[in-house]
Amino acid sequence: MIRVPLTVIVFLYLFVFLAVIFAGWFVDERRRQRRARQALQFRLRCAICGFEFEDRSASPLPNCPRCGRPNERVEFDPL
Ligand SMILES: [Zn+2]
Repeated sequence: MIRVPLTVIVFLYLFVFLAVIFAGWFVDERRRQRRARQALQFRLRCAICGFEFEDRSASPLPNCPRCGRPNERVEFDPL
């Protein structure tokens, strides 16, 4: 029989417990970031009037529904 001190058992228990919580948090955070990126994938903000709209077409320069100006597809910054 292998003798293991109580402190080692407590340490291993806490280490495994925290590792599982950290891994779950990490996976959930990655999933949340991916969902946020996908939600903003087709989102555009007009450079002239600032109107935010969604365009799911394949057009490289979608027109703003408010002012009609063509807009480039740049990465949407929610701020
Ligand atoms: Zn506009």
